[in-house]
Amino acid sequence: MTMQPWQEQLQAWLTIYQSYTAKGHVATYIPALAHANPQALGISLYLPDHRLIEAGDTTTLFTMQSVSKVVNFMAACETRGLAKVLENVDVEPTGDSFDSMIRLEIHKPGKPFNPMINAGAITVAALLPGDHEQQKIDHFLTMMERCIGRKPRINPEVYASEMKTAHRNRAIAHYLKGSGYLDAEVEDALNVYVKECAVEVTTRDLAKIGLILAHDGCHPITGERIVTKKTAQVTNSLMLTCGMYNASGKTAAFIGIPAKSGVSGGILASVGRRSPHTSNPFPDGCGIGVYGPAIDEYGNSVAGIALLQQLSEAWDMSIFSS
Ligand code: GLN
Repeated sequence: MTMQPWQEQLQAWLTIYQSYTAKGHVATYIPALAHANPQALGISLYLPDHRLIEAGDTTTLFTMQSVSKVVNFMAACETRGLAKVLENVDVEPTGDSFDSMIRLEIHKPGKPFNPMINAGAITVAALLPGDHEQQKIDHFLTMMERCIGRKPRINPEVYASEMKTAHRNRAIAHYLKGSGYLDAEVEDALNVYVKECAVEVTTRDLAKIGLILAHDGCHPITGERIVTKKTAQVTNSLMLTCGMYNASGKTAAFIGIPAKSGVSGGILASVGRRSPHTSNPFPDGCGIGVYGPAIDEYGNSVAGIALLQQLSEAWDMSIFSS
C-alpha cells in the first residue's frame, strides 16, 4: 500500500504538535545543548520492509544523551552476557530523577536500580570489555554501527562541555566505585558514559534501533541477529518501566509503547507486532525516532511525547491493545 496517507497524517499531526514546543525549554545544564533550536520537531517511523514514514526535522543530527543507555545496555549484554550485567545492575524503576543517587545510599549494598538512569548506565558502561576507555567505547560504536548501518560520530563540543560540568555524574561514579559496582577506573567509566551521550544520530537512526528491538533483537532488513531475544525483551521492558524517568508510569499508561528519552530531545520507541484485530496499520511492528529539544521538567521532549501519544491512540499502538 502507498505510504501517502500515513505520511500526510503524520505531517498534519506534526503541524499541530509543533506549537507544544513552546511549553518546554532546551537543556542548558550541559552548555553545548543550549544551541539547539527549541522549535525543532521531527519523527521517523521505520517499517520492517524498509519503508520510512516521516515528517519534520528528520535529518538534523543531535546527540543521543540518555537514549544511548539503551545501546549501552545492548552492547554490554552482547559482550558480557545478560546474567553478568544483571549481577551489577537491577531492573527496578525508581520514580526519581535521572541523575538521582539517593537510592544508592538508602538501599544497601548500593546496586544501581536500573540501566536507564545515570547510575545504572555508568555501571553498565564500565562493564564493556577492555582495560581502556577506548576499547569500551569501540564496543558501543560497533553496536551502533550494526544497528544503524554507519559508524556515528562523537560530537567533541558536547562531550567536552559535559565533561566540564559532570560533577554529579562524577560523584555517582565515585560512589559506585566505593560500593563495588564500578568495574573500571572512575574517569574511564565517566569518559565512556559521556562519550556515548555525545554520539550523534538522526530520528531515522533511532527508528532503526527501535525496529530491531521491536523484532526480538533481529535486524528485519539484513536478517542479522543483533542481540538475543531475551536481551531485547529485557530492554523493551526496561524502556517501558524506566525509559522516561519519573514520567515512565504515565508513558506506559497513556502511550503504552516502550520508549527511551534523552535531554537533547530524542525519543527512541519500539512498537512490536500487534494482533491483526487492532486498527494498528503496521501489524508487523515498527521503530520510531523522535526529536524535539524543548523538554519538560522530567527531561522528556514535550512535543515529542504529545506526538507519540497521538500516534499511539490514533493507530492503536499500545502494547495493551488486543
Ligand atoms: N548526559 C546526560 C547526563 O548524564 C544525559 C541525561 C539525559 O539525557 N537525561 O546528565
